[in-house]
Amino acid sequence: MGTVNENNGFKLPILGEEDIDAQLRAFEQEEAAKLGLKTEATDHWVDKMISPEFKASKRQETTLLISGLTRAHDYLLQGGLQGLGYKVEVIDCPDNDALRYGKEFGNRGQCNPTYFTVGNLVKFLTERAARDGITQQEAVDKYVFVTAGACGPCRFGMYATEYRKALRDAGFDGFRVLLFQQKGGLKQATGEESGLVMNPKFFLTLLRAIIAGDVINGMGYRLRPFEVEAGATNAAAEKTKKWVHEALTQQKSVLRALWRGRAEFAKVKCDWTRPAPRVSIIGEFWAMTTEGDGNYQLQTFLEQEGAECDIQFVTNWLLFMLWEGRYDTKLRAELRGLDKAKKSLKDAAFGKKLFGLFVADLAIRGAFHTFGAAVGYRGYHLPDMDVIAETADKYYNNQVRGGEGHMEVGKFILNVLHNKTHMTLSVKPFGCMPSSGVSDGVQSMITGLYPQSIFCAIETSGDGKVNVHSRVQMFLFKARLAAQKEYAEALERYGVTAEQVKAFNDAHPHFGSGLHRAPHAAAGTAGDRLAEIASYIGKSETQIRILRAKAALSTVAAGVKAAPGFIAGLRKKLVERAPILVAQAREEWKDARPVFEQKARETVTASVAKVTSKIRRRPAAEAQASV
Ligand code: SF4
Repeated sequence: MGTVNENNGFKLPILGEEDIDAQLRAFEQEEAAKLGLKTEATDHWVDKMISPEFKASKRQETTLLISGLTRAHDYLLQGGLQGLGYKVEVIDCPDNDALRYGKEFGNRGQCNPTYFTVGNLVKFLTERAARDGITQQEAVDKYVFVTAGACGPCRFGMYATEYRKALRDAGFDGFRVLLFQQKGGLKQATGEESGLVMNPKFFLTLLRAIIAGDVINGMGYRLRPFEVEAGATNAAAEKTKKWVHEALTQQKSVLRALWRGRAEFAKVKCDWTRPAPRVSIIGEFWAMTTEGDGNYQLQTFLEQEGAECDIQFVTNWLLFMLWEGRYDTKLRAELRGLDKAKKSLKDAAFGKKLFGLFVADLAIRGAFHTFGAAVGYRGYHLPDMDVIAETADKYYNNQVRGGEGHMEVGKFILNVLHNKTHMTLSVKPFGCMPSSGVSDGVQSMITGLYPQSIFCAIETSGDGKVNVHSRVQMFLFKARLAAQKEYAEALERYGVTAEQVKAFNDAHPHFGSGLHRAPHAAAGTAGDRLAEIASYIGKSETQIRILRAKAALSTVAAGVKAAPGFIAGLRKKLVERAPILVAQAREEWKDARPVFEQKARETVTASVAKVTSKIRRRPAAEAQASV
């Protein structure tokens, strides 16, 4: 039997002698010609939506669309962006129609918030095009959607892609979705400056709007369950939002606007003897924040049922992100030798980074409390993210990310341990990866560990509203009984009646005011307020003053007493972390030392040169003078 070469004369080319690619191309063309296919260069489709262009020259004719937080936040963000010179429109809170649009044009198997938020944008554009009689292309040219982006492990990292997919399928191919994480102010591919300038002023404006939205919402949830005249709190909140919106639009003082709103909130008459069950709403960020069909108007429903909602602020989310930054930096700092990725800490001063994050945390907390004090929202403790992390870590590893991460678990445990609320309500969107893991697994175990807790998890899928409300009602029934029992026992313990409490609050506007916050003593607000004033009831003004002075002194004394424990705890933390910190500092010093020494040498040489030249000039000047 002969070889292949002997049979057909074909010789295998020696590698390097022949251009295999050229042969393949030629072969491809031959075959294509046989089949009658075109082989000239094809104009391939390119996804224009991946790098959206919003040019500075188009700023005046382009409207930025925003949506996604609470109504107060979206409205104030609109004011802030208008103040920066943008045309802005708020898309209303997503409803069930938005969900239908999302399901029609979105990918299968998305989580519920994706359907709602993506569908909301498609719905807006579709309806707007129909209302204004504009084509889809005109809508694409006229509007830009600005939203938060991330590269999280859950679907949040895919939101932007999902927006593109749904918009294209709905006929809005090329629609621009801009993410906060994208660099702004830089020249775009066209060489023209970006229309959205994401500089420090931009982010500072957003921060002011977000924190102002938080404290106004906080006042609303604090007063509404106890207001005597229905609607009084909402009226005060609306006025305050309007003033803050104006301040942001005109780039004036937000603090002054909040202060003005404070007077409105002060007018809201409240009955602090109502033992409203306090319900902590936790869960997936969007699902627990939205105020529409996305969570079956949960907050409004709870308030209609007589509960007080303890909501999570957007500020808390910002603090969580800073915590993530700190946590990851500390971990990566130990790997500096190997950490050579794009954003590695190999050559970076990680101490500086940690310090920056620490300062940012302090600044956000400071801003929150300043804004809160201005509007009358005092006495709220922003969560200590380290405590939440440490509490949850045993049950939900701090390194597992996506959604709320370990926060849901940590918050739930702390609610129970510190008797913060009567009930914890966890909102889980259908199809949410992190939330399902938490609710289906870990939270069930925690409820087993703390059987005294009242924990209700609900799944939001867009349908089954009646079922969800009914489920919440069942747990709320228990919480209501717990609140009533707590208050009745407290009245008995202090030997006072609800009428006496009411009369005392009426006679003492400071204690009866909605701007006043009693220290934490019970799970409910009525219990807190009662514990604070019980010993004053039936006393003269002078006696009350003396008792208050004593109470203030004992608070100081307790602080002093607790100080050694606090210092010991701090020392323990430092001792635990010191070896790493010292080792890291030493390593940084190793890098910084040559630069530092060089700088010192230059400074000394420059000083010596200066002095020497002065000395040299002096005899010359003296000689000149003597001539
Ligand atoms: S946390 Fe859950 S609901 Fe939220 S984006 Fe991620 S997967 Fe979706």
